[in-house]
Amino acid sequence: MKKFKKIYIEITNICNLNCPFCSKDNRKKQEMNLDNFEHILKQINDYTDYLYLHIKGEPLIHSKIEDILNLCF
Ligand code: SF4
Repeated sequence: MKKFKKIYIEITNICNLNCPFCSKDNRKKQEMNLDNFEHILKQINDYTDYLYLHIKGEPLIHSKIEDILNLCF
């Protein structure tokens, strides 16, 4: 059994919504590049079987979401 039930990776903090319960911040809006994502995947591979691709931000509007999902399998 792996150590964690799931691991969260925030692949972008960009969001196209404005949910009232979402706390706002002043972080620069950006998305994770594929090299960084792949590097993280290799580091956490032994620790979980489940990834959540959001913390804040909308992961489905990441410009490389298809590539990111393909790397997850
Ligand atoms: S980050 Fe999530 S909670 Fe916040 S505005 Fe976007 S969709 Fe809503």
